[in-house]
Amino acid sequence: MIDIGDDDGSDAERKMRFLYALRSRGVTDTRVLTAMERIDRGLFVRGHFASRAYEDMPLPIACGQTISQPSVVGLMTQALEVQPRDTVLEIGTGSGYQAAILSQLCRRVYTVDRHRKLVAEAQAIFRDLGLVNITAFTADGSHGAPEQAPFDRIIVTAAAEDPPGPLLAQLKLGGIMVLPVGQSDTVQSLIKVRRGEKGFDYEELRPVRFVPLVEGIAQD
Ligand code: SAH
Repeated sequence: MIDIGDDDGSDAERKMRFLYALRSRGVTDTRVLTAMERIDRGLFVRGHFASRAYEDMPLPIACGQTISQPSVVGLMTQALEVQPRDTVLEIGTGSGYQAAILSQLCRRVYTVDRHRKLVAEAQAIFRDLGLVNITAFTADGSHGAPEQAPFDRIIVTAAAEDPPGPLLAQLKLGGIMVLPVGQSDTVQSLIKVRRGEKGFDYEELRPVRFVPLVEGIAQD
């Protein structure tokens, strides 16, 4: 068959629509948009949902979890104000998509998930993409990562009722944490926490819906 380049054309168009949707939903930071242009979400979604990877919606991944909606990934990354020399902790590796985007913006990313299977799958993608500044491991992230602490930035991609104490403690002075808070089966609030000289400052950003932060390491 003769390759007339149709696939390339629709691919480029799909990616353009993807970026346009991000911008129209408030993702305006150029560095964040560039990172999201570089990291192909299609690599992080398997099975029959793969064809929907460029739509602005959350999608199911293994272990009954979800890959977040791209615009929410963008808005959270933007709110985190990541700097090139930062060390970032992510709780909730899931597909690895959010961690891959963060890896483009900072010096080092630690990402943890309570499901071994998700961590292993994400590690394989990081390896294939040559994202050597990401360390992924299995742990109960509600305790943070005490051995790697403190962190310039912390992002939590599962909802807790309140910001977990250990995470607040592992945030550097001047650091920022972005996380959803609220009960798991209702609409939660995305909040931004800044650690200053006088304590923690909380800002409510927008309503969101995430899977719950669950204690303990899972069986799979
Ligand atoms: N950031 C992900 C989406 C995460 S979905 C992405 O880009 O695809 C939320 C993830 O949080 C799930 O994979 C779930 O297993 C994980 N999780 C829930 N509670 C946790 C805990 N206590 N410690 C670590 N991971 C947890």
